[in-house]
Amino acid sequence: MKQNEILLSSPHKGNGHTHNGHKHQESNHLHDDIGDGHILTSLNTPLREDAFQLDDDLKIELIEKHFEQIMHILGLDLTDDSLKGTPHRVAKMYVKEIFSGLNPANKPTAKLFENQYNYNQMLVEKNITFYSTCEHHFVPIFGKAHVAYFSSGKVIGLSKLNRIVQYFAKRPQVQERLTNQIGEELKKALATEDVAVIMDAYHLCVSSRGIQDTNSSTVTAFFSGKFEEESVKAELLKYIEMKTGN
Ligand SMILES: [Zn+2]
Repeated sequence: MKQNEILLSSPHKGNGHTHNGHKHQESNHLHDDIGDGHILTSLNTPLREDAFQLDDDLKIELIEKHFEQIMHILGLDLTDDSLKGTPHRVAKMYVKEIFSGLNPANKPTAKLFENQYNYNQMLVEKNITFYSTCEHHFVPIFGKAHVAYFSSGKVIGLSKLNRIVQYFAKRPQVQERLTNQIGEELKKALATEDVAVIMDAYHLCVSSRGIQDTNSSTVTAFFSGKFEEESVKAELLKYIEMKTGN
């Protein structure tokens, strides 16, 4: 019961969220600007210290109740067979799937191997499909990630590169932060500064609402170490543009 109280109490820190007068309006405008402009405010995912005091089962139970309320307020008939299970499905999907990357317990462990073949050129893992969620609108961001590195003498399994991308994607995100978090994690996992990440993604909050631009995609990049050199960057871009199998 005590656990339940943590989440059911006000989620705000009391920073300008008074419910009377101008202060509330001003902060609302600021938050609208940040959200609609998809402005990045911090490189770390803003998590509270007590983020994992509740276990997954209790989180699912609580989210289910709240989501049921949202559907009820929208006027949906929750006795309908098609809608009945939706609050539970959404709650489970949030905790176990699309936001599972919030929990450090789910972080992939990357085992380092000796680079036996002394391959000392650039390694590029391209076209990694990822699905994330815009933290400002809670709708999908999806696209392709390309990651690259020069071995420091150690390598990790190729599937680990993919898993690191997926782990950070499974959070409410801002694309710039997602790109940086992957880059920083790759530096740690590969024990090298020579890392690059390029992400090209569609934001459903841009294509299906607001300005409704269905064609634009957003590209973000993280270049570190050798990848800060123009010639190395150019080589990477050439590999990314290259057609697979030619
Ligand atoms: Zn958005």
